Amino acid sequence: MNDRDAASAPPFVTGYGYTVHENASLLDRTTFRVPARAATLIDVHEFDAVPGLLAEAAQRGREVLVCGGGSNVLFTRDWPGVVLALRTRGLDIVEQHAAGTPGDAALVRAAAGEIWDDFVHWTLAHGLRGLENLALIPGSVGAAPIQNIGAYGVEVGEFVDAVYAYDRTANAIVRLDRAACAFAYRDSLFKRENGRYLITAVDFLLPRARPLKLDYDGVREELAAMGVVEPDTRAVAHAISRVRTRKLPDPVTTGNAGSFFKNPIVSADFAAALKGLHARIPVWPQADGQAKLSAAWLIETCGLKGFRDGDAGVSDQHALVLVNYGGASGAQIWTLARHVQQCVLARFGVALEPEPLVV
Ligand SMILES: Cc1cc2nc3c(=O)[nH]c(=O)nc-3n(C[C@H](O)[C@H](O)[C@H](O)COP(=O)(O)OP(=O)(O)OC[C@H]3O[C@@H](n4cnc5c(N)ncnc54)[C@H](O)[C@@H]3O)c2cc1C
Repeated sequence: MNDRDAASAPPFVTGYGYTVHENASLLDRTTFRVPARAATLIDVHEFDAVPGLLAEAAQRGREVLVCGGGSNVLFTRDWPGVVLALRTRGLDIVEQHAAGTPGDAALVRAAAGEIWDDFVHWTLAHGLRGLENLALIPGSVGAAPIQNIGAYGVEVGEFVDAVYAYDRTANAIVRLDRAACAFAYRDSLFKRENGRYLITAVDFLLPRARPLKLDYDGVREELAAMGVVEPDTRAVAHAISRVRTRKLPDPVTTGNAGSFFKNPIVSADFAAALKGLHARIPVWPQADGQAKLSAAWLIETCGLKGFRDGDAGVSDQHALVLVNYGGASGAQIWTLARHVQQCVLARFGVALEPEPLVV
């Protein structure tokens, strides 16, 4: 279709399973709460509508961006194409494995539009373990595999059995098992092949018996403060939610996307050299022989914790979190992010990589 045909194509119209909003504000659609507009925003409630919508967008020459809860996206400009916001719902235990055996687990299927934290609590209420340390992470189930969400010593990839996705190259729904998802630290096949896969649902294999992971960042102390002597999964989720609420700015009042930078992975030799220069630098050896550094420590040591440029700032609660104090634009947040990157590079020779999708 040429430009004239595209321009004369009929506009998107709300249909079964989806609602169209033209020239829509995205301010309330991302947790950064920066002003931006989408030429077309489509809330999708039935995934069956997606292939047709993608075909229509392609016919009009309009680029498509997929969004869940918008908690890991920074819009630095308006989006001239189509934003598909996945709101599909559905939770199901699709397979029960024998109770009381070493394989005692359940296979749970969750639709992409389910809210992650609600899903975590649903699994715990069903006596399933594993996701308790990932409580209170904002966003949707469908986005969880994208950057292999992780917190408090647990990554979601460990529990993913398979991901169902619409492959825009093959124009077909595909099933990708855990190995095919290629999960790594804040990374996966989906992040590397950005835009190719629209995740429709995720299968999680969740055990009924599994030791709790408590040795991380104040979890035991929080349980003690709560007066919990023999914690179960729900107490752990509650304790972690309390710690997170204290440590991280609340996106409802202060726009942010959680950690803005990944913890950098460097060679063991480079980490050792840095340690020689900065005795207090935290270095976490990795299974593959490399070393992970604390991005928060690097930023804080550059004196940037609490730094503010207009309404764009580095949180004074957590140096890894960039915040919108109210009136910042996405471009201003991105300028601040680049300033942080430059300071850390100049002082430590380490390149910080952003975690959210920057549009
Ligand atoms: C306060 C706060 C705390 C956070 N803490 C953590 C944390 O502890 N650990 C952590 O890992 N992350 C954390 N995050 C980041 C964020 O919550 C996660 O990355 C989450 O998975 C994003 O979900 P979302 O639905 O909001 O995705 P969005 O922000 O809407 O999208 C994120 C990316 O996924 C893509 N995407 C979304 N849905 C789909 C889909 N169905 N199919 C294909 N692509 C899709 C988008 O195109 C985009 O590239 C935090 C964010 C905030 C605001």
